[in-house]
Amino acid sequence: MSDCCGGACHAPTAVGHAGSEHAHGHRFWKSTGTLALVAAGVLIAAGVLASVSDAPAVSTVAYLLAIALAIPAPAGRAWRSLRARSLDINALMVVAVAGAIALGEWFEASTVVWLFGIAQLLERWSQQRARRAIRDLMTLAPATAVVRDAAGDREVPVDHVHVGDRILVRPGARVPLDGTVASGYSAIDQSPVTGESWPVDKAPGDQVYAGTINGSGALEVEVTHVAADSTLARITTLVEQAQAQRAPIQQWVDRFARRYTPAVILLAIALALVPPLVAGGDAATWVYRALTLLVVACPCALVISTPVSIVAALAAAARGGVLIKGGAHLERLGAVTCVAFDKTGTLTGDSLGVADVRAVDGTSADRVLAAAAAIEQSSEHPIARAIVAYARAANVPVDAGSDFRALPGFGAEATYAGTEAIVGSHRLFEERQLCTPSLHAEVEEIEEAGRTPVLVGLGGTGIGVLGMIDEARDSGRLAIESLRAAGISRVALLTGDRSAVASQIADQVGVDEAHGDLLPPDKVAHIERLRRGHGPVAMVGDGINDAPALAAADVGIAMGVSGTDVALETADVALLTNDLSSVPFALRLGRATVRRIRSNVAIALALKGAFVVAAAAGLATLWMAVLADTGASLLVTANSLRLLRAR
Ligand code: ADP
Ligand code: MG
Repeated sequence: MSDCCGGACHAPTAVGHAGSEHAHGHRFWKSTGTLALVAAGVLIAAGVLASVSDAPAVSTVAYLLAIALAIPAPAGRAWRSLRARSLDINALMVVAVAGAIALGEWFEASTVVWLFGIAQLLERWSQQRARRAIRDLMTLAPATAVVRDAAGDREVPVDHVHVGDRILVRPGARVPLDGTVASGYSAIDQSPVTGESWPVDKAPGDQVYAGTINGSGALEVEVTHVAADSTLARITTLVEQAQAQRAPIQQWVDRFARRYTPAVILLAIALALVPPLVAGGDAATWVYRALTLLVVACPCALVISTPVSIVAALAAAARGGVLIKGGAHLERLGAVTCVAFDKTGTLTGDSLGVADVRAVDGTSADRVLAAAAAIEQSSEHPIARAIVAYARAANVPVDAGSDFRALPGFGAEATYAGTEAIVGSHRLFEERQLCTPSLHAEVEEIEEAGRTPVLVGLGGTGIGVLGMIDEARDSGRLAIESLRAAGISRVALLTGDRSAVASQIADQVGVDEAHGDLLPPDKVAHIERLRRGHGPVAMVGDGINDAPALAAADVGIAMGVSGTDVALETADVALLTNDLSSVPFALRLGRATVRRIRSNVAIALALKGAFVVAAAAGLATLWMAVLADTGASLLVTANSLRLLRAR
């Protein structure tokens, strides 16, 4: 049974799936329905005027006309639901109106349909408002791009641009597609996509995203993703899918409403029959009271408040640069008491750089760097990007290796210069037995200097070591502070890097516990241990090595921009910036949503309860019942929409 007042919400989740057919229906209803409601309102006012100025016949005609104008919409929907063998609120409303007419209560009958129409209008408006907040995201990217090739510049629809094409982004224009800067310098306002408030400087080689706004420089961009594949398109698809998923609390509300409506109907029948038959009450009085009870049976406020809260929160999150893949995750975010962070690429990574290049056994430093860069060219790991950038800056030719393979938590390997090449941790080289005494000596020196060694092997033997420096992101410390302020009882650091580095970073950001030398399954084990000891866990990570832990956590949060696709896919929440303050923001939003839904349910139930009693006692009139319901819907909807402003 579709329990809410509006025929529009066949299912409250229709919010995300309003296709064009739906939208068309809405517009049609809006134009004719709204006009009819306005006219009915005027007629009711005229009827009231006529009745106080002693023209009862005129007033009856006015009320009847008002009913005739306002009833077709709910009557049509009631008919459709009856044919589908369900009893929806429209049917209840039509019965109540028919009853009022039968009792000769023209004023009552006309105000009930009219107020009911207003309630439906409000409901639709609030749903559209929340939905529009998400739609706004999708219309960010321009529909055409200026492609630059041998033939010159021409404007083409974005769907016709291919990966590898060069496009021109003029100053002040929106970037139409994802790509890397090929030439030109500019600052780009990424706030529409990532929520970052400051423009980000872009130089050749940097990534730009569809939907962001170019500053004062012209950029030539090499397209890396077709339009349907852009970060923005991915975000909007994910948010759309998110709306279709129902949160447990939402399912509870729906189940409750399904039982509640028939229960009130039974009560209404009993109320109409029992007192007159048993106690000899006046039949008309008790039928009227039963009709009032029927109107009270509309659980609108209860049912609409939840989806509106969730969609509003999802939209607020997306605007703040946090992508939550469904209402259920939002609800679980609200329950989290413990947060685990990955290190490389999550708590650190912005300042990752190569500090040392050591070659052993007669190899040259350039050869070590060239071999490392050849493998790392194909890697998504933040260490890999730092190595490739360093090699380029040092003018070491970077050839691409072939047969690349990531070794999550360890390193990577590829074929380079006709032989097998490998980079990664000391542990990896120990396990593969690639260590030599001279390599060992260099590794120890680098570790003593507090750096992370990345070993390089070629043709079955270690040829050198790179020393990486890495510092905690500024936002990490602040984020952890505000997590604690929000009552998170345990914050952990889980890393594949050495334990010494783990505790060094732990001191910088202030976590409760830090664990190093973890392989992907070890991270999962830690998540499970944390959950047993401290309750629901959120894991924040970026890499392929984090994917199992992200899936194992109650809520997996991926670093969206710098993170890998695997992490993004596995996670429940994606951060669109590297700003870790989004983590406490998401937790607070989750809690606020759950709180908002609970208070809405309490408001709705209290009002209903009061009206059931008042109706049975004969203290409430039909129009008061409808007005109370409209008021409650308005109240809870306004309460839900406040989430849109969350920051
Ligand atoms: P974290 O858990 O902190 O994100 P990872 O598990 O990704 O770290 O990496 C653990 C260690 O494995 C790194 O400190 C590094 O020594 C090595 N490693 C992993 N991937 C790579 C790579 N692509 N290149 C070089 N070293 C790597
Ligand atoms: Mg990582």
